[in-house]
Amino acid sequence: MTETESTFKAKATIKSADLEHRQKINFNIAKYNSVVPQAKQQFSDITLVKEKAKNIKWRALETLDQHLEEFEMHFTSRGGKVLWASDSEDALEQILNICKEKNCKTIVKSKSMVTEEIHLNPFLAKNGIESVETDLGEYIQQLDGEPPYHIVTPAMHKSKEDVAKLFSEKLGTSSRLSPEELTLVAREKLREKYVQAEIGITGGNFIISDIGGIAITENEGNGRLTSAWPKTHIVIVGIEKMIPSITDLALLWPLLSTYGTGQKVTVYSSIISGPRQSGETDGPEEMYVILLDNNRTNILANPVQRESLYCIRCGACLNVCPVYKNIGGHTYGTTYSGPIGSVITPNLSGLEEYKHLSYASSLCGACTEVCPVKINLHELLLVNRNESVEQGLTTFSEKMVWKIWKVASLKRQLMNMGTGAFKTKMVNRLFKNWNKHHAPLEFSDKTFNEMWKDQHKLK
Ligand code: SF4
Repeated sequence: MTETESTFKAKATIKSADLEHRQKINFNIAKYNSVVPQAKQQFSDITLVKEKAKNIKWRALETLDQHLEEFEMHFTSRGGKVLWASDSEDALEQILNICKEKNCKTIVKSKSMVTEEIHLNPFLAKNGIESVETDLGEYIQQLDGEPPYHIVTPAMHKSKEDVAKLFSEKLGTSSRLSPEELTLVAREKLREKYVQAEIGITGGNFIISDIGGIAITENEGNGRLTSAWPKTHIVIVGIEKMIPSITDLALLWPLLSTYGTGQKVTVYSSIISGPRQSGETDGPEEMYVILLDNNRTNILANPVQRESLYCIRCGACLNVCPVYKNIGGHTYGTTYSGPIGSVITPNLSGLEEYKHLSYASSLCGACTEVCPVKINLHELLLVNRNESVEQGLTTFSEKMVWKIWKVASLKRQLMNMGTGAFKTKMVNRLFKNWNKHHAPLEFSDKTFNEMWKDQHKLK
């Protein structure tokens, strides 16, 4: 068992018994569940909408190379700069080069999971550059020294009392502040940083090929300030965020907000297609887009796994997942958690180290059912499991157990040997490790043959 796997299991064991954590998560997810159905009403046929959304992403990914080049051509024609990053190190180096060139000491940053994926903040700190999170949830997490807990709601595991206590400890405010007062405190602190920052870094919800633009959607206006106020704006975005046309946003923006936060559309939706043009009064003097691969092309090369790149990061699959709701986002130990994290992390960061995530599922299919771009999440978890077996990543004892199971299952006489109590004892001994995390297996007193005969006698 790898260290990552044993840490995951240890954390999951502790977290799933933490009733306070469960209560906070259920409370916050219940608030989400109460608004999503209302937002869904804006679509007359949600099944068709999901189908269309999947088709848009399918089209974008099937011809990704062409769309990336088209994006670059349009974006650079308005003075933007496109940089290509093959992996995290490459992306970090390119960001550092820009920072050095601009003599940058302070960066304001809006919410971006890709910057978490490349571990941007610790890297910048090591290089003497302060990077300040401006999304309220991310700001809270940064103050607490924690990574985001959820891909849409970074501080979902904290109650308002937890946040008030945190602000009091870190910023010296009263521990009884209301959420509105806490927001004002954060706003005041962040305004100072906006004035100081030489560079703003954002992610991107979509890369728009036909106009060479980046679509950013958010609720606080911090993304808009981050991209427009500092003299330099850097966007870092995974290449899979591509969509072919600006017209696709008419469907994808409301769909993302419906499934992400239960809103018909988010409060601030921006399309940025380059730095400030002559005659314009605001916007950055320079704008860079860093297109990150970081193993996404490996997923693209796999015809079955490819559809996991359709993800629009709405977080809905996390909110319905019985595993996520019990073990929580931090237990995964990865940037992307929940069902989509369990599907893509083994492919982004290594099957050997992360294959255990593909087993952290009841395979109930709730994630697949909810996904607005119809990714077959639970089936992709099975594909990961299959690939780990094909690559010989299973342990000797696991292989033996399955061999014994196969021999027994194919021989009726073997299956019928011994009493139910005897088989229960033997099998539970054999599956010792399984039983550490699951209810014991129990055999009935009668064999299947006996039960079959009984039933036919009755007729
Ligand atoms: S996999 Fe689907 S449900 Fe999960 S975050 Fe991505 S788009 Fe949303």
